[in-house]
Amino acid sequence: MTDIDVSQATGLMQIPGHIDPLPVARDITPREDGRLDLLGLPKKDIAALFEQAGLDAKAAKLRAKQVYHWLYHRGVTDFEAMTDIAKTMRPWLTERFIVGRPEIVEAQISNDGTRKWLLRTADNHDFEMVFIPDADRGTLCVSSQVGCTLNCRFCHTGTMRLVRNLTPGEIVGQVMLARDALGEWPKGRMDFAFAADDGAEEDEDGGDYRADGRLLTNIVMMGMGEPLYNFDNVRDALRLVMDGEGLALSKRRITLSTSGVVPLMARAGEEIGVNLAVSLHAVTKEVRDEIVPINKKFGIEELLQACADYPGASNARRITFEYVMLKDKNDSDDDARELVRLIKQYKLPAKVNLIPFNPWPGASYECSSPERIKRFSEIVFEAGISAPVRTPRGRDIDAACGQLKTAAEKKSRATRDREELERLYAEKEAALG
Ligand code: SAH
Ligand code: SF4
Repeated sequence: MTDIDVSQATGLMQIPGHIDPLPVARDITPREDGRLDLLGLPKKDIAALFEQAGLDAKAAKLRAKQVYHWLYHRGVTDFEAMTDIAKTMRPWLTERFIVGRPEIVEAQISNDGTRKWLLRTADNHDFEMVFIPDADRGTLCVSSQVGCTLNCRFCHTGTMRLVRNLTPGEIVGQVMLARDALGEWPKGRMDFAFAADDGAEEDEDGGDYRADGRLLTNIVMMGMGEPLYNFDNVRDALRLVMDGEGLALSKRRITLSTSGVVPLMARAGEEIGVNLAVSLHAVTKEVRDEIVPINKKFGIEELLQACADYPGASNARRITFEYVMLKDKNDSDDDARELVRLIKQYKLPAKVNLIPFNPWPGASYECSSPERIKRFSEIVFEAGISAPVRTPRGRDIDAACGQLKTAAEKKSRATRDREELERLYAEKEAALG
């Protein structure tokens, strides 16, 4: 039996190594009104549902193509607004299907423009998404799981009990929700998407969105969760994001970050093909075992070899090594020199991203001093490897990935309690007449 058979047969995802299997939500969440949510489905699955609902194969295929375009390329959720679909057909669709979005529990904007959303799945699990605008780009930080099974010691998500993998709809839904919020769906003529002469930038994989003037230009799978432990759903969601007839974002503008799930890295390169970021964070076995415990299963050498073998990595498409700066833990001159040595030994087309540690209540580490981070960065730079320091963003709204949920939960729990009280009072008053 293959992994896929196992997951389909049992509803559990099989994970290499000794990690508890994760419950996976069904791709199509059943709704009380019996309608099916199309969000997250590829064109062929939409066609299959239309056929099951009574269309003949040819009609189902045509309708699926039209609906797919409206759904993913145009961001339309109302079948009545799908103007090239026959008027009589639209109520047929509305009776049977919906196009959903993750529910927004809370949306905040930081004074530096960073936005964060706390989102909720249909079965009441909260997860988060962050948008970080910069001068030349806008990056959406997307979650792949609710919580994480890996317990990196400096990461707040690692302290949460993992609830479940997100579905393709919940993953692509984040990007679509961000486009809704930023007002960034293409408007105008129906043939816009298919016309090559609109002057838009054409990527080799069909993306036709310009970076110019667009707010959301890049996606990083760096929110909650380990994307490679939710491989199929992340792949399927990113395929919809990358499809020129779908969200049409170039794979060059998407980065997947992994803590180092070595056995799945080659598949990620082959089946997804986006940029790779690796959470290295330490250069010795002792320290990496402590702060990134998956290192006990897949060590630094294996990880770097998998990076060297990553399909598509080149000097033009470098692998990013993320390195969180922890005071007196991984931030010495020797650590910096060892980092350079390792990158050179494996001949990696690499850049290093130095991340000032973002503290959270109860964390057992402190952030390195700015001088220490600067010195570390210089040593790596002097060896010819780019090593910028990531500027912390949205600190006033706890916008670092993995830290949103708890802060927002506290607030929303208080709000929810208040609302519940108000509801009870209202009920009481109504009962008293
Ligand atoms: N699970 C994946 C992707 C999500 S974490 C991974 O580990 O790569 C995205 C990045 O944020 C990772 O590099 C992670 O190590 C880093 N990170 C997590 N908590 C942090 C914190 N408190 N301060 C700074 N960086 C953190
Ligand atoms: Fe999970 Fe990544 Fe956090 Fe590690 S750093 S606990 S892999 S989300």
